[in-house]
Amino acid sequence: MIWLVDYTHYEKEIDKELLECKRDYFRIKSYKRYNIIGKTAPVKTKVYSTGLLRIATLLSRSGIEVRYLHYYMLEELLEQGATPPEVVAFSCVCPTVPMCAELAERIKSLSPGTKVLLGGVHVNVAEEETRLRYPIFDRLIVGYELEAAEKIAGRRLNNQGEGYVDYSLLPYHISDYAINTFTNMGCPFSCKYCVDGLAPHFTASENGQLDRLKQLLPSRNLVHFFDSVLGYSKEGIARVCRAIESCNHDLILSCDMRADILTPELVRALYKAGFREIRLGMESSNEELLSGNGRTLSFSTFRGQLELIRESSDMYVTLYTITGLPGTTPTIQQATLEECDRLFSLGLVDEIKNALYVPYPMKNVNYAERGIQITSTDWRGYDRQSYPVYRTPEMSEDELWRMYIDTARTINNSWLKSIGYSRFTDVPEIPDYYSEYVEAKYMKK
Ligand code: SF4
Repeated sequence: MIWLVDYTHYEKEIDKELLECKRDYFRIKSYKRYNIIGKTAPVKTKVYSTGLLRIATLLSRSGIEVRYLHYYMLEELLEQGATPPEVVAFSCVCPTVPMCAELAERIKSLSPGTKVLLGGVHVNVAEEETRLRYPIFDRLIVGYELEAAEKIAGRRLNNQGEGYVDYSLLPYHISDYAINTFTNMGCPFSCKYCVDGLAPHFTASENGQLDRLKQLLPSRNLVHFFDSVLGYSKEGIARVCRAIESCNHDLILSCDMRADILTPELVRALYKAGFREIRLGMESSNEELLSGNGRTLSFSTFRGQLELIRESSDMYVTLYTITGLPGTTPTIQQATLEECDRLFSLGLVDEIKNALYVPYPMKNVNYAERGIQITSTDWRGYDRQSYPVYRTPEMSEDELWRMYIDTARTINNSWLKSIGYSRFTDVPEIPDYYSEYVEAKYMKK
């Protein structure tokens, strides 16, 4: 028996000012999405790790008994005095490594013979540092899919390749979860602030298993494809769109995309395949800042691509921006916020997300050379909504934090104005959409 523990998603109590911004944000988001996309199956708060479920499937198909647990289920089992099996393998993200280590200590004290393993994207990009800091783990699992499954099993497995992911291994029914899927892993670009470019490329499935998912999910359920670039390339997007379209589904799809890869034909193909939302990384409007951070997509090209998307479809367009990239100053940020305001008022975008830059530990990355001075080594704070863990020559941690909160508020205000309201409380509330989600995700009990 192997316990596979998903610690890739967790609730987090956030700063009160930020929480207020989130509430306003989701109020507009619900309203706007409802008006553009229409009624969908309600937003879910439970999330699972697609990578861990794929590993669970491979192990199970090879005859190994596995149990997929969310971290709180493991905590409950340990509290009840359950005996851990011979192997417990965690899937983590950077901020949950310390919590996995604490659970590993508890497991070892209850069952010294149990092997405790740790894997996930963080381990793949920061193996050595993780090993040095947390020697409690018997093994760090580097690699994905079959490679990772074999390391967890401690033996070779029969790769039965093409089969479906076994959603019945999840502790809850698949329809209770927010659905994230992917067709390809890895990114052909290598922006310096992102780990996706370091991940190996492989094709998981051309339709993201949508043919199976459509049998399990209610009509108009939201499904997000989180490939860094859907299908990995121009040709890949076209192929994936054809594969998804032929599933003949009635789900509402969204995807992450690199804007400069799109052509009018590809935008139309996405729409035809069922994509109603597209999410694009803009990051900043400052060209120097973008190129200094290894971004090969300029803002001027990006903006042109937004027009192309609007001319070719009526997809809901979401942008990602980052506050605090190395080299940012208040003047640069102000200019980005003015561009955001303009994009909203021109109707070129429907939503703008903002996140705080995090200097995630990565092998062979010297942050000092990039002008980043790390001020906290506590990985618990290495997420995009915590107080900054670094400072730059231009800005202190406090200044970066203030800039982050002000950015969230300014984007909300621009968004509010663009939908014709002057107060957040005037925006009609759409029941069942995001209020429960905000409470569950950001207000730790
Ligand atoms: S294009 Fe996007 S996913 Fe790819 S490396 Fe850059 S930021 Fe990361």
